Amino acid sequence: MNKKDYYEVLGVSKNATDEEIKRAFRKLAKQYHPDVNKEPGAAEKFKEIGEAYAVLSDETKRRQYDQFGHAAFQNGAGGASGFQGFDPGDINLDDILNDLFGGGFGFGNFGRSRSGSGVKSRGQDERIVLNLTFEEAVFGCEKDIKLDLDVTCPKCGGKGGFNETTCRTCGGAGRVLEQQQTIFGYMQTQKICPNCKGQGKSYETTCDECRGKGIVTKNKTFTVTIPEGVDDGYQLRLSGKGNASRNGGVNGDIYIEFKIKEHPLFERDGQDIYLNVPTTIVEATLGCKKEIPTLTGNVILEIKPGTQNGTKLKLKGKGIKTPNSLMKGNMYAIINVVIPTKIDRKQKNLLEDLGKTTLNDSSEFKNFNKYVK
Ligand SMILES: [Zn+2]
Ligand SMILES: [Zn+2]
Repeated sequence: MNKKDYYEVLGVSKNATDEEIKRAFRKLAKQYHPDVNKEPGAAEKFKEIGEAYAVLSDETKRRQYDQFGHAAFQNGAGGASGFQGFDPGDINLDDILNDLFGGGFGFGNFGRSRSGSGVKSRGQDERIVLNLTFEEAVFGCEKDIKLDLDVTCPKCGGKGGFNETTCRTCGGAGRVLEQQQTIFGYMQTQKICPNCKGQGKSYETTCDECRGKGIVTKNKTFTVTIPEGVDDGYQLRLSGKGNASRNGGVNGDIYIEFKIKEHPLFERDGQDIYLNVPTTIVEATLGCKKEIPTLTGNVILEIKPGTQNGTKLKLKGKGIKTPNSLMKGNMYAIINVVIPTKIDRKQKNLLEDLGKTTLNDSSEFKNFNKYVK
């Protein structure tokens, strides 16, 4: 098996930093990705660079490779490395790419990077926490949110300057070669042109509105429709509404996370709600019909004779709607028998009369009394 040296594959020196390895891999991955490069051998090359990167980007694997070469990862390597469970052919390149490019690894803008100029980066995401009342979360609402965002400079259209010229430092390539002395002698490495930051062009006059950055900060207001039923910690993503990219890439996203105030009466558990229903001993003993509040107005709750304290009565579908779905949670009425603490003389007499009758012939009492000796 005649494998190429991983460092050679990525075009980096043996003492390349993690950052250099990452950069080299990004560049090559974009160049040879089978989605964009249809030349024969590109897919093979792509696999090769993925493998090289998987090893060299991992501290342990890299050390083993430095010590044992490819033998470190071959089966039956005589146990020299003690390295197990890694097959370079098994690497999930998509995972690596998503890791590196934050899941937004699109090849749509590929033309630019192939011609040697800068890779477009995605704008930054913005995260905010939005406070909602219990009712706003349950029924949904519209909210205005204000936030400072990077937007494309209106004066220069994001270019950062006027009167475009080809960059003199790199001749429009976006990259320059740099000689470095290493222990292996002089090595040539490519780096992003410091003058044009990889764009391959510069401007005679810098835009004074954005000072050449191509973006300015603006306070923006969005009206956000919050769906019915959002809960604490639920996130809403406004795709493409985040910060503008600094070099013409797509916008970032806005993530809104909700923080929901508690209700004085209803207790929420996911899409279910719980309501404590204070009940007198007479109501619980004789049974009754009781008017109770729900999210959608009052209903009559039927409490059967002999209902015990803590009994949970289910009101199907009277809970909270699941956002963007037709499903609804349930409501549970919890019977809370309240023992009177202040009674007048007449009530006391009635209770004393009641106490003279047999109230303790249920199985709970009988079972208990068996052990009272
Ligand atoms: Zn340049
Ligand atoms: Zn500008």
